Amino acid sequence: MRVQPGAEHLTDRLLAWYADHGRDLPWRRTRDPYAILVSEVMLQQTQVARVVPRYVAWLERWPTPAALAAARPAAVIAAWSGLGYNSRAVRLQRACARITEGGWPQTIAGLQGLPGVGPYTAAAVAVLAFGHDLLPVDVNVRRVLDRATGGATLVPAPGHAAEITQALFDLGATVCIARRPRCGVCPLADGCPSRGTTAAPLRRQSRFEGSRRQARGVLLRRVTAGPVSIGDVDAAIAGSLERDGLVSIVNGRITLPGR
Ligand code: SF4
Repeated sequence: MRVQPGAEHLTDRLLAWYADHGRDLPWRRTRDPYAILVSEVMLQQTQVARVVPRYVAWLERWPTPAALAAARPAAVIAAWSGLGYNSRAVRLQRACARITEGGWPQTIAGLQGLPGVGPYTAAAVAVLAFGHDLLPVDVNVRRVLDRATGGATLVPAPGHAAEITQALFDLGATVCIARRPRCGVCPLADGCPSRGTTAAPLRRQSRFEGSRRQARGVLLRRVTAGPVSIGDVDAAIAGSLERDGLVSIVNGRITLPGR
């Protein structure tokens, strides 16, 4: 890792900590880009503990991009149920259709051209599957770097990016957490300029109860169970699901696409 003077020992401490405390997660036992893409898309807005069993089941059912691309959209959307932000399932399947046709993009820009793949997800796949030497920076990693290095940009040494990335993910998720960092057990505490500080309270999250997102989820669950008449539901919500490719509306009947 090339950063600022003295950063090498910070890396050493981080990796030593990771060797003892790193989480054993199923997507860390593979370099299959498809498996890593599935995990990253699921993790975009869903917690690790909820993702693990769904990830395992997903790969058993659709082990390759071609298998997912060939699946009925209705089956894919139904299988995503409960993970939230269901449009991710539609975009993941579209990404796999592109990969099946044209192969895996070889560049970050190419990966970002896949449906549902933003800069962070593209970087994560590039590092964890294809061995690129860069650091994917999500909100947790950004927080750790801001606190421990004053926001320096870390450039991983060749061949170490994946391990450093995973170590930063875990430190951000379990030790250098948002509100009350656990500096007493942190491997970077020695010399950390933020040691012992407590973050300001998080802004209150917007209410899920009564939200449009909740209404979309409720309607999609109904449609997953069977066809629903447009006259029985909020047409605007149904229309938004249709625009996202999550339902089809034909002759006033709402169904999952391809069902
Ligand atoms: S010492 Fe505290 S603030 Fe600094 S990196 Fe560790 S947990 Fe975060």
